Amino acid sequence: MAQHLRWIDDEIANLTSSGLYNRIRTLSSAQGAYLTVDGRRVLNFCSNNYLGLANHPRLVEAAREAVMRYGVGPAAVRSIAGTTDMHLELERRLAKFKGAESTITFQSGFTANLGAIPALVGSEDGIFSDELNHASIIDGCRLSGAKVVRYAHAQVDDLRRVLKAQRASFRRALVISDGVFSMDGDVAPLPEIAAAAHDHEAMLMVDDAHGEGVLGRGGRGIVDHFGLHGQVDVEVGTLSKAFGVVGGVVAGSPSLADWLRQRGRPFLFSSAMTIPDVAACLAAIDLLESSTELVDRLWENARFFKGEMQRLGFDTGRSTTPITPIMLGEAPLAQEFSRKLFEAGLFAMAIGYPTVPKGKARIRVMISAAHARDDLEKGLELFAGVGRTLGVLPA
Ligand SMILES: *Cc1c(COP(=O)(O)O)cnc(C)c1O
Repeated sequence: MAQHLRWIDDEIANLTSSGLYNRIRTLSSAQGAYLTVDGRRVLNFCSNNYLGLANHPRLVEAAREAVMRYGVGPAAVRSIAGTTDMHLELERRLAKFKGAESTITFQSGFTANLGAIPALVGSEDGIFSDELNHASIIDGCRLSGAKVVRYAHAQVDDLRRVLKAQRASFRRALVISDGVFSMDGDVAPLPEIAAAAHDHEAMLMVDDAHGEGVLGRGGRGIVDHFGLHGQVDVEVGTLSKAFGVVGGVVAGSPSLADWLRQRGRPFLFSSAMTIPDVAACLAAIDLLESSTELVDRLWENARFFKGEMQRLGFDTGRSTTPITPIMLGEAPLAQEFSRKLFEAGLFAMAIGYPTVPKGKARIRVMISAAHARDDLEKGLELFAGVGRTLGVLPA
C-alpha cells in the first residue's frame, strides 16, 4: 500500500478493534422470511421489506412486462429525455394513494432529500432539525448552505424554544423531522410539530421512509395516520422499504413538484428510476389499494413479537412501530449477540456508532408481513437462547 494511502488501513484497523467495523454479508436468495446469507439458510430479521413485496409475483410480473415493452434503462436524465408516461402515471398514482395534490419521484429516498432540501432553503435561511434525523436529511441540510439548528429528539417544547429564539433571523425557515425514526421505531409528534411550524411561519417537511406502507389507512403514511392532509408542506418517502422496490418520492403542492423539476439537482443531473422499478411500484400501489391485508398482518406480527420479547425480559426501547430495537448497550456485545444468532440460524444486524449514539448499540429486528407465526416463535426461541448465553437475560 502506497504510503500516502496508509491512513485508510489504519482507520479500518481502528474500527475493527473498537467493534465498529461493519462486515457486509452476501445474499444469494430472493427476499422473504428466510434468506441464504453467506451460503447459509437463515431466518431473516433485518430487511425493510415490511410487506413482503420485494419479490411479490404481481410486482415481478409488472416489471417483466414493462421491460419487454420499454427495455431496462431510462437513457437520459428526466429533464432531457428520460421521463416516460409510466413515470408520470406513477407520480399521479402516488399522489392519489397518499392523498396529496402532487408528487415527483427521485432515484431513492436519499436523493429525494438531497434534491428537496437545497431547493427550499439557502444561505439566508434556517433549518430546524430533529437531532436524530436520518443521514440523508443531515446531508441535504449541509448541501443547502442554510444554518442548521438542532432540537432535542421529538421534543416540541425544544423546537418551539429554538424557533422563538432564532426564526426571526432567517428569511425562510424549514422544520424537518423523520416520521418514524429508523433506529428506534418511535413516531414523530407530527400534529404538535405542525402547529409549531405554523405558529412561526416555517415550512414543514417530514421524511416518511419507514411510514410509507406501514402507518395510516392501508399504509398511506404518517400524514394519513395523523389526518394532517394539507398541513405538511413537503412529504418525502421511499419506494425502497415497504414498497419493496427502489425509488424516492416528494409529495406536496403542484408548484412544489414543479419547482423540484426545475431545481432538484438529483432530478436534473442524474437518471431516473428505471422502467422495471416504476412498473413494480405501480403494481405495489394496486396491491395496497385493493386490500389492507398485508399491512394488517405486518402490525399483528410486530405486536406479537415485541410483546413476547418484552415478556422474555428484553428492552425494546421506545418503538411503537414494527421496527424492534433490542437495546444492548456496548457495540462489541451487540456484535457478539448478532454473531451468535447467525450461528444459530437467525440473521439480525447489530447497529452501533455512528448509526446510533455511543453506548446505545442494539440489534434491530425488522418484522414483516412475510413472517409466519412459526417463524416468529423460532426467532423468539433463538433470541432467548443467545440472551441467556451472553448474560443479557438471567440464566
Ligand atoms: C431508508 C431511509 C432513507 C433512504 O431511502 P432510500 O430509498 O433507501 O435511499 C431516507 N430517509 C429515511 C428516514 C430512511 O429511513
